[in-house]
Amino acid sequence: MAGIVVVFDFDRTIIDGDSDSWVVAEMGLSDLFHRLRSTLPWNSLMDRMMKELHSQGRTAEEIAACLKRTPLHPRIAAAIKSAYALGCDLRIVSDANQFFIEKILEYQGLLGCFSKIYTNPSFVDEEGRLRIFPYHDSTLSPHGCSLCPSNLCKGLVLEHIYASAPEGGRQNFIYLGDGRGDYCPTLRLQGSDYVMPRKKYPLWDRIFREPALVKAEVHEWSNGEELEKILLHLIDKIPAEQSISGSNPSSQSNSSDCKLHISVSSPESFTQTLRVPH
Ligand SMILES: [Mg+2]
Repeated sequence: MAGIVVVFDFDRTIIDGDSDSWVVAEMGLSDLFHRLRSTLPWNSLMDRMMKELHSQGRTAEEIAACLKRTPLHPRIAAAIKSAYALGCDLRIVSDANQFFIEKILEYQGLLGCFSKIYTNPSFVDEEGRLRIFPYHDSTLSPHGCSLCPSNLCKGLVLEHIYASAPEGGRQNFIYLGDGRGDYCPTLRLQGSDYVMPRKKYPLWDRIFREPALVKAEVHEWSNGEELEKILLHLIDKIPAEQSISGSNPSSQSNSSDCKLHISVSSPESFTQTLRVPH
C-alpha cells in the first residue's frame, strides 16, 4: 500500500473535538478567549492564551497533562494503526499546532504512525512559555488563497505532498476532514483520489452545495466506527482499481462525473454511488 497516502485533518477528525477549545475550556481561559476573539487571528490568539497560562505560573507539563485527557474515539485510533500496518503513508495537515498534536498522539501511541505533520510550529521558550506561530508567515510571503486563513493554506500543503511523490510513482490520496479549511485541498484532489468529509460538518456541507466541483470520490462518515470501515474499505479496494485502470489508462481520465458515495447502515454494503454530471 506504499502508493496510498492518507491525509488527516486533526481537530474534529482524528480527535472528536477541537484541541485549542479543549485547552481553553479545561484551563479556565474561556472568558479571556472570548473577550479577545475579535481582536486577533485565531493562531495569534492561541499564542496569547499560552502567554496567559505562563503568567499564571502554569507549565507546559500541565498543558500536556490537559491534552492527554482529550477524547479520541477508539475505532479512529484502531483505523490509524490498521492503515499504518497496511503500509499506507499517513500524514496530518492541521491548523492546530505541533505541541498539541504531538502530545495527544504520543499519549495515544499513534505518533509513530505518521510520516509527517504539517501544522503551526510551536516550542517551549527559555522561560518555559509555550509559543505558537503561523505555518505560513503572511508578512513575508502571503499564500494568496482566498479560501484559507492567512496562517495556513492546506491546499498548498497538499500540492507540496503531490509534488514530493517518488518519481514515476503513482499515488492515490485519501483525505479526511471536517472544516472549512479542508475545502481548498479537497478541490485539488484528483479523480483517482478520495475525500472523506465528516457528515453535517462544514466541509461536507460545502462539498454537497456544489458537488460537481469535486473530482475525488466523496465518502461521508459520522462516527469512529464509520470512519474505520470506510477508510479500510477504500485502502482495500485501491490496488484492485489501480490494476483495472492500468489495463485501460483512459478509463479514469475520461470520466466527467463527480462521484458521490453516500454511507448507509448496512455493513455488507455501506456505500452507494450517485453520479452527478458536471
Ligand atoms: Mg478539523
